[in-house]
Amino acid sequence: MEHLKIEIHGIVQGVGFRPFMHRQVRSHGLCGTIRNSSSGVELELEGERAALERFLDELPHRAPRLALIERIEPLWGGPLQGYEGFRILPSLVEKERNTLISPDVCICEDCRRELLDPKDRRYRYPFINCTNCGPRFTIIRDVPYDRPLTSMGCFPMCPDCEREYHDIENRRYHAQPDCCPVCGPHLFFLDAEGRRTDGDEAALQSAREMLREGKIVAVKGLGGIHLACTCDDPAVTRRLRQRKQRDEKPFAVMCRDLGCARKICEVDEDEARILESSRRPIVLLKKRAPGLLHLSENGYVGVMLPYTPLHVLLMGDDLDMLVMTSANLSDTPIVYKNEEALEKLSGIADGFLLHDREIQTRCDDSLCFCVDGKEYPVRRSRGWAPYPIRVEQGRGHLLACGAEQKAGFCLSKGSFVFPSQHIGDLKNYETLENYEQQIAHFERLFDIRPEAIACDLHPDYLSTAYAKERSEREGIPLVQVQHHHAHMVSCMADNGLQDAVIGLIWDGTGLGTDGTIWGGECLVGDAKSYERFGSLRPIPLIGGDLATKELDRIAWALLRDAGLETAERPLYESMLKSGLNCPRSSGMGRLFDGAAAILGIKSLASYEGQGAVLLEAAAAEDETGAYPFELTGAPLRFDWRPMIRAMVFDPADTARKAAKFMNTLIAMAAEQAELASRQSGITDAVLSGGSFQNMYILRRLPDLLRSRGLKVYHHSRVSCNDEGIALGQLGVLSKKGY
Ligand code: ZN
Ligand code: ZN
Ligand code: FE
Repeated sequence: MEHLKIEIHGIVQGVGFRPFMHRQVRSHGLCGTIRNSSSGVELELEGERAALERFLDELPHRAPRLALIERIEPLWGGPLQGYEGFRILPSLVEKERNTLISPDVCICEDCRRELLDPKDRRYRYPFINCTNCGPRFTIIRDVPYDRPLTSMGCFPMCPDCEREYHDIENRRYHAQPDCCPVCGPHLFFLDAEGRRTDGDEAALQSAREMLREGKIVAVKGLGGIHLACTCDDPAVTRRLRQRKQRDEKPFAVMCRDLGCARKICEVDEDEARILESSRRPIVLLKKRAPGLLHLSENGYVGVMLPYTPLHVLLMGDDLDMLVMTSANLSDTPIVYKNEEALEKLSGIADGFLLHDREIQTRCDDSLCFCVDGKEYPVRRSRGWAPYPIRVEQGRGHLLACGAEQKAGFCLSKGSFVFPSQHIGDLKNYETLENYEQQIAHFERLFDIRPEAIACDLHPDYLSTAYAKERSEREGIPLVQVQHHHAHMVSCMADNGLQDAVIGLIWDGTGLGTDGTIWGGECLVGDAKSYERFGSLRPIPLIGGDLATKELDRIAWALLRDAGLETAERPLYESMLKSGLNCPRSSGMGRLFDGAAAILGIKSLASYEGQGAVLLEAAAAEDETGAYPFELTGAPLRFDWRPMIRAMVFDPADTARKAAKFMNTLIAMAAEQAELASRQSGITDAVLSGGSFQNMYILRRLPDLLRSRGLKVYHHSRVSCNDEGIALGQLGVLSKKGY
């Protein structure tokens, strides 16, 4: 007989870990105890050495669906206690909290079966869940994760639920959000006049009826409220756009199942797996044929599958697809409270399908592409947050504040980094407020008290202002990190890279160390330091920010700089000459904007990056030609003037020209990276920055780089856009010795 104590760290609470262990321990013929601690789970076992060793060997490979074992610490040889059987002990409460919290998880197969089984006591109950599924992060007010500290605190369990909760053999053993029609939350429906329909089924049917009539219904989800309407009639979606003031941005669509998704999009095996995964993100899928312009003006449609029991019931077996877009007015945070919905969405929604389980934390749907069989996050939010990223080197308590337009922060502690959920544009006051609240929420949940802060170099970012203010108030050091360096280190951290890399970092804008705007960069270095090896010929932005909307201004400047004929614009001319309100940018996004306008694809952008998105959508996939270009000077600048000249005189059609434009960028990047590699001896290359949301480039550039002897890495856990930048800031901060 021997005694073995095992500490297990990771997501091991609220996921059915203890009952699972109960079965494992018994099947190995062992005895002992288990309890939750604030850093995970503690097992104490006794039995024959061989049996204990076998148990320990299997442990990492055996866990319930939602559990994630991060670390196992065995301790042999404690005094024998003479355990009989296996007992679950009350939780151990310690001073320091180290528990991880599970993200929200889509409805599991078992619950789905019960939901649709007329004999089950939760038949058609929209809040069915179990230890393997349901809301988590979005209902938690505080830790430890126990019912009173969640939105379910105000729903005392009925005797039936209580029995399941305490039955270790039951799938709902210690499932905190567990409930049933007798004791749990309920739906209600309000029409535009405020007439209320109570009762789950009646409310549901009212909403379904309204949707079938082509009306817009606000539907409360896991991390916020959606606006839903049917997809087939462009007049319906047009009305939604008008009311929501969302002129041209694509809508996400919820499809009843994979079969429905395949009616409008191509779905390969990997994409199907991601769509059906427990995260249930919105996956950007290629349209089957051009069209569906009322849903998305580019080549992709964002599709997700139902992830809550309410969604399953809402779609029933007749609604194949619904537009499901975050309920908000342009650029404000997603609406998530009932009262707020009635107040803010009154001019938008014709009806409201709400319920009395409160959402504690906003969490938008995640959004991704599928690249190389893996998720390529554009927005890392529901289903991910607040799951951490494990880093090799331990870190202190650190905070990185991110950028601004696509805000996101990161907190770290020990070997964990916690990226925030999607936050949005900080220029909006409510978003800024939510940003500050979420930082405070994360700090409380994970017991983090920052000892140093990182932020962007840009003095006007509101995240920078927050960081400075906090650093002064709390007397903690502040490190400002160059934007593109942070992108590069973010991609390194995403891939667990420590040694120096070549970073191809392309985005719209970011402040450089020389006070100009950067964004088409080839950097060489690591988290400690970097060199700006290459860039692109600066583009004058006539009228500053206005040029990112009126793309004709950029087109004019590109043509003029390339020595081509341009319309007479004395005002532009004088701004160009004086430099007044005419900053210069080496942003790749701006080159895309200018090209989109020159090619007649888009001249007035209604959202950031629209020119690039539409240029990509217009491109002929099979075009292999490219335009001439030059690389000159130090940093090695991409001189795009030969390309612009060739493009303008190219007799080919727009689709060919758009493709050739991007092929030129790909060829240029390969050239730059190869030269950087030859000079530095470095062979690892990372791709980051918002421009790498361009799938045309992301699906072609890596192969070319590989053919030049480089090893290529891209993102798979955080976004390549500014939302992912905080992870890189944190990496730089920790390298400074904090
Ligand atoms: Zn379940
Ligand atoms: Zn109940
Ligand atoms: Fe950026």
